[in-house]
Amino acid sequence: MGLIEIKRKGFKCERCEHEWIPNDIKQEPTVCPKCKSPYWNKPRKNNKKK
Ligand SMILES: [Zn+2]
Repeated sequence: MGLIEIKRKGFKCERCEHEWIPNDIKQEPTVCPKCKSPYWNKPRKNNKKK
């Protein structure tokens, strides 16, 4: 066995770029565990009008 890289699905905060792997991937966290932002999964790209 050599060194391998295991990739798991995780979440990344759009605000502080913190990455973490939850115990239950199906359960989206309500806030970022680091910056506590409830908008961790909402990128700030709402400036464009359409
Ligand atoms: Zn964050």
